[in-house]
Amino acid sequence: MTEMDPSKKVADRYLKREVLGEGTYGVVYKAIDTKTGQTVAIKKIRLGKQKEGVNFTALREIKLLKELKDPNIIELIDAFPHKGNLHLVFEFMETDLEAVIRDRNIFLSPADIKSYIQMTLKGLAFCHKKWVLHRDMKPNNLLIGPNGQLKLADFGLARVFGSPDRKFTHQVFARWYRAPELLFGTKQYGAGVDVWAAACIFAELLLRRPFLQGTSDIDQLGKIFAAFGTPTSSQWPDMVYLPDYVEYQFVPAPPLRSLFPMASDDTLDLLSKMFTYDPKARISVQQALEHRYFSSAPLPTDPAKLPRPTPKSRVSDINPQDGPTVLSPPRKSRRVMPDRERFEGNSNLAEKINECDGEVRQAVGDVAGKKEHVPTSVDFSIFGSKPLSRPTINRLWVYWVNLFPHVMIFFYFLRECHLACV
Ligand code: AMP
Repeated sequence: MTEMDPSKKVADRYLKREVLGEGTYGVVYKAIDTKTGQTVAIKKIRLGKQKEGVNFTALREIKLLKELKDPNIIELIDAFPHKGNLHLVFEFMETDLEAVIRDRNIFLSPADIKSYIQMTLKGLAFCHKKWVLHRDMKPNNLLIGPNGQLKLADFGLARVFGSPDRKFTHQVFARWYRAPELLFGTKQYGAGVDVWAAACIFAELLLRRPFLQGTSDIDQLGKIFAAFGTPTSSQWPDMVYLPDYVEYQFVPAPPLRSLFPMASDDTLDLLSKMFTYDPKARISVQQALEHRYFSSAPLPTDPAKLPRPTPKSRVSDINPQDGPTVLSPPRKSRRVMPDRERFEGNSNLAEKINECDGEVRQAVGDVAGKKEHVPTSVDFSIFGSKPLSRPTINRLWVYWVNLFPHVMIFFYFLRECHLACV
């Protein structure tokens, strides 16, 4: 009698249900643990062929999440290989903060906003206490459980930090959440990058739309400077030494209240400290949690009482009549993005990828290289701008896809005009 493959035994324990979503590295399914009856989420990551090497992103996510046990961080329950894929089993979460922010039927009171941002900062404070940078903070990576608890998820880009000489890639975070030091190409950074992203999330909760919606890295800096004024060297002395530094047209800072008219004084004070330009002067997550914003009235809403959307409608992966199926069906045509980590430390390759996606970072390099003294202009459209579709890391092609129907309508309109004339 042949002995059963132990990984198959583990895989058979989970009954796969519908697809919950697709991340950069693989598909996430809802599943039932037949042993405990618990609903779980399983992230299936392609391990890659031998010659492609080990998928370090997955291994890193496992290693870091094993260390990070906190009520505001997603729990990794199990991990097992099966049929050339690595399966990460997580606690199941009903929705995420992006769905909350987008849902027009939800009213978020100042106490609700305080509760959501407090849970975000608590999860982040735990990461930083353990010397881990998340590096991909954004509303759809903040998952919300059935009891209203918010938890940080997607640690695929997370890294251990702390060593002063350690160099990292600056191609992290979705652009709208990227700190100015990253946009200026710094390779040595710390917990401040997560604080900046958390501040963008805080602003997004207040405005109910993404705050700084840059369409390129240069434009992102322009949006930041329009909101907070162009930084001066007394405000941020190290700025001019950053690898991709370019001079921007000077604009003074408008009053923060003009951007957040309904916010309390405490809210604005905390926001301004989180949005401090100089990462060395930026408030830490722990200091932010100790800010009087969290102890003054109104106190944060109890998570169980927070408004939440009805559970997300998910892409159904199974025929309901078939009932649950066993994990790992033959799904062949999944598109999985290339491993971002392979590009880390290989700037040529990273640059090529940026070029392909139409990134204008190369242009920044060119301007900096020629040392032309032409300050880059600042874009004021942040004031009352409409939400754009969310860019993720190096996925500018999405813009072209979005643009396509508009181009088609334009040509159709031209043709109609022509026919009407002849
Ligand atoms: P990720 O690869 O971690 O970015 O996950 C991709 C998508 O899968 C997310 O945007 C969520 O919609 C969904 N997802 C990930 N983890 C969970 C979870 N623990 N519970 C429910 N849905 C999840």
